[in-house]
Amino acid sequence: MLNFSLSDEQKQLQDLARKFAKEEIIPKAAHHDKTGEYPREIAKKAWDLGLMNTHIPQDCGGLGLGVLEGCIITEELAYGCTGIATAMEANTLAAAPIIVAGNEEQKKKFLGRLTQEPLFAAYCVTEPGAGSDVSGIRTTAKKVGNEYVLNGSKMWITNGSVADWYFVLAYTDPTLKHKGMSGFVVPANTPGITVGKKEWNMGQRASDTRGISFDEVKVPEAYRLGKEGDGFKIAMSAFDHTRPAVSAGAVGLARRSMDEAIEYAKTRKTFGQPIASYQAISFMIADMAKDIEAARLLVHKAAWTIDQGERNTRWAAIGKAFAADMVMRVTTDAVQVFGGYGYSEEYPVEKLMRDAKIYQIYEGTSQIQRLIIAKEIFERS
Ligand SMILES: Cc1cc2nc3c(=O)[nH]c(=O)nc-3n(C[C@H](O)[C@H](O)[C@H](O)COP(=O)(O)OP(=O)(O)OC[C@H]3O[C@@H](n4cnc5c(N)ncnc54)[C@H](O)[C@@H]3O)c2cc1C
Repeated sequence: MLNFSLSDEQKQLQDLARKFAKEEIIPKAAHHDKTGEYPREIAKKAWDLGLMNTHIPQDCGGLGLGVLEGCIITEELAYGCTGIATAMEANTLAAAPIIVAGNEEQKKKFLGRLTQEPLFAAYCVTEPGAGSDVSGIRTTAKKVGNEYVLNGSKMWITNGSVADWYFVLAYTDPTLKHKGMSGFVVPANTPGITVGKKEWNMGQRASDTRGISFDEVKVPEAYRLGKEGDGFKIAMSAFDHTRPAVSAGAVGLARRSMDEAIEYAKTRKTFGQPIASYQAISFMIADMAKDIEAARLLVHKAAWTIDQGERNTRWAAIGKAFAADMVMRVTTDAVQVFGGYGYSEEYPVEKLMRDAKIYQIYEGTSQIQRLIIAKEIFERS
């Protein structure tokens, strides 16, 4: 049975998130982009309405909603501002390793905390010398008694300065490469943690990205997720849960850019006619519409598949690669529709184009998504 319609509950969530984006996010997006101020108040309001952490299981105090519901909400929040949406969405990435591999106690303690207070969390895998090639990380976790001692530096950590706790990937045995990594939950107030300066990025400036260093940081054994050596598998399978929602953010951003382009094309006149009457412009917008629809279908398929309890790695990578490349094209064309005004801060499309680029980079670059897709085709078919 194939059914493309949303349930009543999903439509309500979509309406709630759409209204929130219109009233709370869009009016403040330019301010957060210009100042880089963290959108704490906006996130708190979203948290109060139940628009954050929707995937946290009910027995930990959460709503226990699926990845698909997360995508529906994220598309709407991202329509408002992807920098603000990413600040909220980073919690989903940090929580995913615990959802994948946490024991009951770890789930109740760390996921439960996010449902009791509007707190943030962060996922710390990337390092100054290793992003795509995760085996190149140098952070180590040495077992001493019933604790681990962490040393190393992480880079580009979203929510770095505001997180209450971090998921951290480190080597417990570097000689075993991927099988020698372990994942830990590390409370942010543990002595030995230093958070770096805010990175001033091309786009999504409302989001907080930092380096974090760990110097003799002591973590109880009870905060290790899964077994020693499971870390790489845990860190990567978290992406099967989160890539659909990240891709849904790209869909929301593209939809916003298309709407801006449509409105402008209807009112801007050249040679006595609205530019929408020229096929060169209307076909650009037609291409936007078809690519956005295609991306949403792929993203929903990736989300639906994991919600059915099935492996979705191939679909999550296909959806992410497609949506990321799509949003870059759509936002670039939206600037084109605006002509010179598109290049200016006076209109929102230059921000939308800057915000789009990161989708081809974070949560696995577009090249890495293609590596995953090819691996799925040649090694698992
Ligand atoms: C704003 C922002 C937020 C981020 N948030 C987080 C976060 O919260 N947590 C976290 O852990 N990380 C985060 N990251 C890091 C992000 O996931 C990495 O930047 C990304 O995985 C790429 O790694 P890299 O920057 O080291 O690039 P590299 O791995 O050095 O890649 C450089 C280029 O080479 C290409 N490349 C690399 N290997 C191959 C290959 N085998 N085949 C073909 N092409 C290849 C890449 O696609 C890329 O184009 C964030 C990054 C940014 C910019």
